[in-house]
Amino acid sequence: MDEHKILLDGGSGTLRRMADFGVNHREIDTICYTHMHPDHTFDLIPLLFSYRHDFTVEMPRTLRIIAPRGFHSYYDKLMEIYEQWVLPEGLKVTIQEVFRDTVKLGNLTIECNHTEHLDHSVTFRFKTGGSELLYSGDTDYCQELIESARDVDVLLLECALPDSMEIEGHMTPSKCGRLAAAANCKRLILTHFYPPVLDTNILSTVSKFYNGPVELAYDGMEVEI
Ligand SMILES: [Zn+2]
Ligand SMILES: [Zn+2]
Repeated sequence: MDEHKILLDGGSGTLRRMADFGVNHREIDTICYTHMHPDHTFDLIPLLFSYRHDFTVEMPRTLRIIAPRGFHSYYDKLMEIYEQWVLPEGLKVTIQEVFRDTVKLGNLTIECNHTEHLDHSVTFRFKTGGSELLYSGDTDYCQELIESARDVDVLLLECALPDSMEIEGHMTPSKCGRLAAAANCKRLILTHFYPPVLDTNILSTVSKFYNGPVELAYDGMEVEI
């Protein structure tokens, strides 16, 4: 079977936390970025740097990046600064920009759609023929996300701020509950918490709108899909 190890976003600290939980970053062959904000992308340079200086990383190899429109130019700018220091010989980086697209990766189909956060923001729905996962990245409540997440088995959704601090471009527990109910997902996992939201009772707020199972993600959490 054609197996892939996919990293979904990778902000500062991602590599370090992977090491803490014994997740081998050397096995990553694909990265899916939802948008270019630094809390979702900053560990790309440390990852490449580690490949260059870790002689146990097998070369040659390809690192496939699936990312929103504009990622090519973002990456080229990073390489203007860092290429000589971080890119190992034998590493081929391929970049595929997506918006509303479908990508095939072995037996995996990835449906990409837009969501409301940045103009280029995308979501990823992973399909293998069995259970499906949708990862929202950063988002606001919007109809396109409801459609993208329709009836999905696991909805991994951001929940950045408490209801009392609601802003455009991010979710709150109420918005998450309403969106999960509208999309009719089978299971909801929330992530991307800014500290103030963790001082509120997220689960009870979400459950006012959504009757299915809800969990709060944490570093090292394992989810079987
Ligand atoms: Zn963002
Ligand atoms: Zn973010």
